[in-house]
Amino acid sequence: MKAKIALGESLYEVDFSEPIDLSLPVSPTGPAAWYVTPPTFEPVKMEGFVGSVKEGGNVNFRDIKFNPHGHGTHTECLGHITEKVHSVNNSLKSYMMFARLITVTPLESGNDRQITVDCLNDISNTDGAEALIIRTLPNTKEKLHKNHTGTNWPYLTSRAAERIVSEGYSHLLIDMPSVDKEEDAGKLSAHKILFGIPNKIRKCSTITETIFVPDSVVDSVYLLNLQCANFENDATPSRPVLHSIRKID
Ligand SMILES: [Zn+2]
Repeated sequence: MKAKIALGESLYEVDFSEPIDLSLPVSPTGPAAWYVTPPTFEPVKMEGFVGSVKEGGNVNFRDIKFNPHGHGTHTECLGHITEKVHSVNNSLKSYMMFARLITVTPLESGNDRQITVDCLNDISNTDGAEALIIRTLPNTKEKLHKNHTGTNWPYLTSRAAERIVSEGYSHLLIDMPSVDKEEDAGKLSAHKILFGIPNKIRKCSTITETIFVPDSVVDSVYLLNLQCANFENDATPSRPVLHSIRKID
């Protein structure tokens, strides 16, 4: 299926036949971070009922225990770091947007790898994109299953976060479990800048973490469909899907 969409003065053709799923699942073999143990999927068992067909039940009916920040791809809002636990449902109100994909090589700084403002030369927002997607190198398949705990993953510097805000992006997607340094003594500098805390609140901004962008997807502008599971929580499992676009007028 193809469609024509207008953004500003320009007209684009979108091809929906080859969606590019950037999400990673909540799964015992999926990615993890923050010292969480693997998610559990347990059949409900009550007197006269077992939620497992294999164990003699009529249906599979499982309780799932997981942590949205620690397991799989998730989208969060400012409620992640405010006293009031705002729901991401109240931040993300529109699910289709233009998104710019860039690939960066984090720069080494001591034991850290930083995404600095110099890594973001390509983010000038000339297309009116609402979202920025950052793929970090190396982009190994290890990311599909990686337990990031204790790895001191690459993170955004404050100046880099400020540049993203100043370019007008409301939504950031990244293939790390956090935009901030794993052990940062609670500073959460990039989260605070991206959510405008404390003085320039960006209630409609979101951060999506632990995505995976296949190597076959080239840096460009895409139509992004950002779908979230309907939890009333600061973060929820999400499924960002890209569609290729072509400018026709
Ligand atoms: Zn986060």
